[in-house]
Amino acid sequence: MRLNRVFHLFTSLIIILSFALALTSCEKSQNNSVESETKIIEIEKTSTTEETEAEEISTNSQETSVETTTITNEEKENKTLQDEIATEVTYTKTETTEKKSSLKVHFINVGQGDSILIQTPEGNTMLIDGGPRDSGAKLISYLKKQGVNKINVMVATHPHEDHIGGLINVINSFMVDNVIDSGVRHTTKTYKDYLTTIQSKDINYVNWTVGQQFEFGKNITFTIVGPTTKNSSDLNNSSIVIFFKYNKNTFLFAGDAESTEEGKIISSKANINSDVLKVGHHGSDSSCCSKFLKAVSPTIAVISSGKSNSYGHPNDLTLKNLTNIGAKIYRTDLTGNIVIESDGNTTTVTLGKLYIYVETKATETSQVAETTQSPETTATETTVTETTQEQPSQQGVYVGSIKSDVFHHPNCRYVKNILPENIIWFVSREDALSKGYRPCKVCNP
Ligand SMILES: [Zn+2]
Ligand SMILES: [Zn+2]
Repeated sequence: MRLNRVFHLFTSLIIILSFALALTSCEKSQNNSVESETKIIEIEKTSTTEETEAEEISTNSQETSVETTTITNEEKENKTLQDEIATEVTYTKTETTEKKSSLKVHFINVGQGDSILIQTPEGNTMLIDGGPRDSGAKLISYLKKQGVNKINVMVATHPHEDHIGGLINVINSFMVDNVIDSGVRHTTKTYKDYLTTIQSKDINYVNWTVGQQFEFGKNITFTIVGPTTKNSSDLNNSSIVIFFKYNKNTFLFAGDAESTEEGKIISSKANINSDVLKVGHHGSDSSCCSKFLKAVSPTIAVISSGKSNSYGHPNDLTLKNLTNIGAKIYRTDLTGNIVIESDGNTTTVTLGKLYIYVETKATETSQVAETTQSPETTATETTVTETTQEQPSQQGVYVGSIKSDVFHHPNCRYVKNILPENIIWFVSREDALSKGYRPCKVCNP
């Protein structure tokens, strides 16, 4: 840690200047990944000469991140977390003896929710979301099985339970160095538990700004391209959206961002052209507007959703739009865990048993680990092995919570906030009204 302090000023300058350059590069082509790659190298070379500019931006970023700062444990020393990320990532892992040549991105099957683990060749780990609370134990097992013993960067895209619920378990089970979240608050118990758990540990809370780029290893960077605005009444559209780059391979992790936010990200001219898209909002029809898909133009689209989920994710139209732009679609509800490996130039998609965590069949799973299987074969087998997944079954036309007097369409975004034990189903609109419930103003049931 002490040694790393030497690098703090230097690395923060790199980051701040990355941000400055990212801002200026917004005017240029958003699809030119080669150009931005060169810029990162330039940043390293020129970072010591432009102190004035860096200072200005630094002040600026403090202003915009007031909201997130308030959540941090105030006792903590006043170190900026982007410093921590850069130092941790660049220097602490160099002692690792085991060298892996590829980057691995795991889309973990957490049922209805999101959880993505990224393992860099140097052994750094990033976890984007942790699925719902009841998938926490399964997630921990999966992470341990991948050899994870520390999370360098944990991202909580937005406060919905299907994204942060499982993170509480993760924080309690692993060392977490840094957390990046939207800074948007929520009223649920899960969110409060998440905050309390973070505050109870020595975790750096990253004060980010949109467009900010972080180094995460050799030839690895990630950029926060959203949320362009923070709005606590629109949690999905306040999702952290990350553009991740390993050499020539690019990934866009869209959280639950919907079309409104997708439009704003396009307007921001951020580079989002990606090989792999983690489709926003579980493939719902509220996401993946055609303009956005064109800008991302993914060759691989991954949808994380629960098998036979009550929201109807993913939506048929979204699937069609993705197919139309030429993306190959992979879905956790159909195939279980999906692991994408990248050597920086090409991506290989590995599906199926090799990476599926099946609690009762651990031996069998590891035996298959050496075998390469075709996705078709595996998909079928996965469907069989993943039968234990728990999903709230639909028992009516409309749904509400026993803790409120509002009823919704099952696919309304607010329904996912209702805890399973509080769910109440209605067979018709009249049924709901007669029980004293009023229609939700968002989904108009
Ligand atoms: Zn979600
Ligand atoms: Zn959400």
